[in-house]
Amino acid sequence: MRLFIRIILAFCVMTGLGGASTLAKGGKSKSQSELAQILADRNLDNSVRYVINNSLFTIYHEVGHLLVDQHEWPILGREEDVADNFATYTLLSQRRRSYHEALKDSALGWKLEDEAYGRRNNPSDYYNEHSLDLQRAYQIVCMLVGEDRETFYQTAQEWRIDRDRQVGCRADYQQISRSFEQLLSPFLNATEEARVTIEYETAGEELSLAYKTLRDSRLLESVAEDLRKNYGLTQDIKITASACGEPNAFYDSSNVEIIMCYELLDDYFTIVSRYMARNGGNL
Ligand SMILES: [Zn+2]
Repeated sequence: MRLFIRIILAFCVMTGLGGASTLAKGGKSKSQSELAQILADRNLDNSVRYVINNSLFTIYHEVGHLLVDQHEWPILGREEDVADNFATYTLLSQRRRSYHEALKDSALGWKLEDEAYGRRNNPSDYYNEHSLDLQRAYQIVCMLVGEDRETFYQTAQEWRIDRDRQVGCRADYQQISRSFEQLLSPFLNATEEARVTIEYETAGEELSLAYKTLRDSRLLESVAEDLRKNYGLTQDIKITASACGEPNAFYDSSNVEIIMCYELLDDYFTIVSRYMARNGGNL
């Protein structure tokens, strides 16, 4: 997964992602409602929910790169951190409990990535484009408690973020949310809609669970509807699910295309199964 992360970063540097506060637009789309309902279904298998939740964060990370690229947003810092913050900000802005849980699962996801693939004292961990996996995990929790201390205090405590830092997270969140609001405000009343197409490429038998999970979740349809309406995009956009040969996700600026690899979902399944096996079947 470290390899996965490095590849994503290398690709992301050449490309871009973003997201607008659909809450500010006042609407929750049909596809988003469908996705939220699926995630809120008590009968949904916990591992499947974890995989969808982590995929949701990842695809909004890629949307962040897309917006940086298409709107030529100024970036004062590392674009990969901006893409992560965009994903967190956007999901928080939906003000849905299921998306809050998605962000908690995504923080856990980065922690499990660190446990599975993290290597210490490897220079590339420190010079590559991404923050360390554990930093990415803690940044999500920091944003959560920064946005709403009452709701997420317990989560921050579980992650052992001390009180002083929780106060700092509040200031960090306000700065980040204000910045995204400024960047997205020109598009709040946009009337033009982008053309967004989705393609599910075939997956082999070994990736059939990943394929089914992605299709059944309606995740790509939800993101497509969001991209179509809420970000003032004018270019044709493609979202492609593909067997890439590696657990990864990309934004390809040359084609204005987001690519979700079935192998990435498969990897999420592997990691969460191991975690649940050693945790008495619980998440
Ligand atoms: Zn990226």
